[in-house]
Amino acid sequence: MAPKLPKLPSVRDLTRIYNLRAKQQLSQNFLMDKNITDKIVGLAGLELDNALCVEVGPGPGLLTRSILEHGAQRVVGVEKDPRFRPMLDQLQVASGGRFQGIVGDMLAVDHAQIIDCGRRLGGGEPAAAFDSVHLIGNLPFSVATPLLVQWLHQLAARRGIFAQPSVSMTLMFQREVGDRITAIHSEPPRGRLSVLAQSVCDAFKIYNVPASAFVPRPKVDATVVQLRPLDRPLLKSSLATVEHLTRVLFMKRRKMLARIFKDWDPAHIALLEACEIDPTLRPQDVPTEKLCNLAQLIEQRGIALP
Ligand code: SAM
Repeated sequence: MAPKLPKLPSVRDLTRIYNLRAKQQLSQNFLMDKNITDKIVGLAGLELDNALCVEVGPGPGLLTRSILEHGAQRVVGVEKDPRFRPMLDQLQVASGGRFQGIVGDMLAVDHAQIIDCGRRLGGGEPAAAFDSVHLIGNLPFSVATPLLVQWLHQLAARRGIFAQPSVSMTLMFQREVGDRITAIHSEPPRGRLSVLAQSVCDAFKIYNVPASAFVPRPKVDATVVQLRPLDRPLLKSSLATVEHLTRVLFMKRRKMLARIFKDWDPAHIALLEACEIDPTLRPQDVPTEKLCNLAQLIEQRGIALP
């Protein structure tokens, strides 16, 4: 277990000292209750000893403190808002060199920079390799979905931080987005994001956080979702083909597949039969595995999706 961090000013005081008013355009809703951030890290059940934790949007750093106090030896935080630089630097010192903040946009940052930064951390230990990467964060809600979709593509291709042998994601989303990511077929929130996520990951909710826990208070509750790569991914095509196929299908979620395919090209209805998919189903009622099979067939046969 890592040593407790030395006594630091509270995050609430720090935001006051540095006069940090939350910026709505960066989806800044901060957690100020350490019980909640401790609970998120505890419920994530992460093996932190030989891992690199990558935190998205550490902001004033309360979740970061919990990660460090749970024993993480290497934590790299990527924060877009440079106003948090002094707080991130303070955490770097307080953590005994186990934390480093990078000011940058997580959508654009070069993962090689994150890995390089992580290799040089380690509480005074010589630079060492890590065997796993945990991506963690109270995500900026405005870019949470694009971030997740980007990471799923990188995971499917085992690129960037997702090239490590063991990877997990523990991410806070707006409640309704978390419901969508984790919905299995025939559950009402089922959508494109459910299929994309579940084609490569096991996705489940670990903790609901009420809107009242954030400062400023958002309009909706949040939920923490954990995503762990499937040992045997259902994906058998490129994720781009699944993404395209699900975009086409879920745009017409009220229609039966037979109708959607007929509008596209009646000859393609045979694809449903080949994948043993009942054409009277609606897109949200089809299991992920069957949609992955359908994407594979479409790709194999070189069929252009509309
Ligand atoms: N981790 C802190 C917490 O739990 O209180 C802050 C979470 S707040 C919901 C989201 C954070 O992500 C903010 O600090 C915001 O500045 C940062 N952010 C927004 N867009 C970002 C991006 N594209 N890349 C990295 N950080 C981003």
